[in-house]
Amino acid sequence: MMRTTKDFQKERLSAGQKVGVINLGCARNLVDAQMMLGRLKKNGHRIVEADQAQTVIVNTCSFIEEARRESVDTILDLIELKKNGKIKKVIVAGCLSQRYGKDLAKEFPEVDAFVGTPTLNRQENPQQVQLTPKHFAYVKICESCFNACSFCAIPKIKGKFVSRTIESVVKEVQALDAQGVKEINIIGQDITAYGMDIYREKSLARLLKELVKVTRNIEWIRLLYAFPAHVTDELIETMAREPKICKYIDMPLQHISDHILEEQNRNITAQGTMELIRKIRQAMPQGFLRTTFITGLPGESEKDFGQLRSFVKDFRFERVGVFVYSREEGTGAAQMKEQVPEKTKKARLDVLMQDQQVISAGIQQSFVGRTLKVLIEEKENGSLETYIGRSEYDAPDVDGVVYVRSNKELKAGDFVSVKITDAYEYDLAGVVA
Ligand code: SF4
Repeated sequence: MMRTTKDFQKERLSAGQKVGVINLGCARNLVDAQMMLGRLKKNGHRIVEADQAQTVIVNTCSFIEEARRESVDTILDLIELKKNGKIKKVIVAGCLSQRYGKDLAKEFPEVDAFVGTPTLNRQENPQQVQLTPKHFAYVKICESCFNACSFCAIPKIKGKFVSRTIESVVKEVQALDAQGVKEINIIGQDITAYGMDIYREKSLARLLKELVKVTRNIEWIRLLYAFPAHVTDELIETMAREPKICKYIDMPLQHISDHILEEQNRNITAQGTMELIRKIRQAMPQGFLRTTFITGLPGESEKDFGQLRSFVKDFRFERVGVFVYSREEGTGAAQMKEQVPEKTKKARLDVLMQDQQVISAGIQQSFVGRTLKVLIEEKENGSLETYIGRSEYDAPDVDGVVYVRSNKELKAGDFVSVKITDAYEYDLAGVVA
């Protein structure tokens, strides 16, 4: 039976240890790491940077092959540090440990413990050690998902879909607001299914209305990981109406050909997808759509891929990520016939990214001369008057930035109006207006 962090602490971690974490993978994993550190701190351990720690937790990712490789490399690095006496204990947590803990324990006997992913408690508002800069935070409102996309192993790793109560999310956000946080990013595997378990209906719009009411310092509420088939008219209206809600939505579409959408088990058709995007565009003409696509799902023909290319060209998404299909153990798609050769998957990814670069350059250029509200993150290294910030169209860590010239001293968390003077492939530059 996989150990929890609680078990591990009781058994192995003498009081007052200096503990640090290396977090891999997505923002959801980061929140798990914050919760683990919160529990360790509550139990008297000192939370320090990983390179200062006696005990290092690596919070692993197991989404696709590439992520697993990075996780294993990090485990090996830590084992080396332990052998050289630089650190005392190595703990492996997160999705890779949840999924393959037993096999890994045989392979890496030097590791002190493999712990699973923390379970999200509906009511509880666990103490967290914030790992993001103080001016923005991630708020995880639900865990796992009940969609059974044929290429995805996450529901198998994360288990049952769980929504937190509106009260517990509001309480967490009120605490962040009181700390002076300026931006919250709402996350989950599928935030648009929020509440379908506990309230028997899609309740994200209802939650957002509560969050808008209780926040003073927080000026931006951003939505990440929406599932197209679960986006409601009420959600679109609430996003369009509430100034605090960023006119930005991250909504992985994965494909557009009906044949592939069916093979992926996405519960939406090409027609349904296009109607949804038109609705979002109509409600938020200045809004940004971030999405991702997968190339090379088994059975993807040149015709299917051709449809995807035309769709990307016609609908001009502001932010696009493309992944090659990764054959994941235990998923439906892994059993499918007509697996596409790696070379073809990669070639299709390259073609789609080239198409998108042209589109993205045009969209970036259209910002020159406009004025944007920018959240300052930090001063650019070695610069006297240039700062790095983000607009409401830039999610942390995954999108571009705005370089801001200012002869007035600025600090992280400041909002400034910036007149855009230059546009680059993914970034913008400008001067305080
Ligand atoms: S929505 Fe689909 S791709 Fe996303 S976590 Fe759920 S099963 Fe995986």
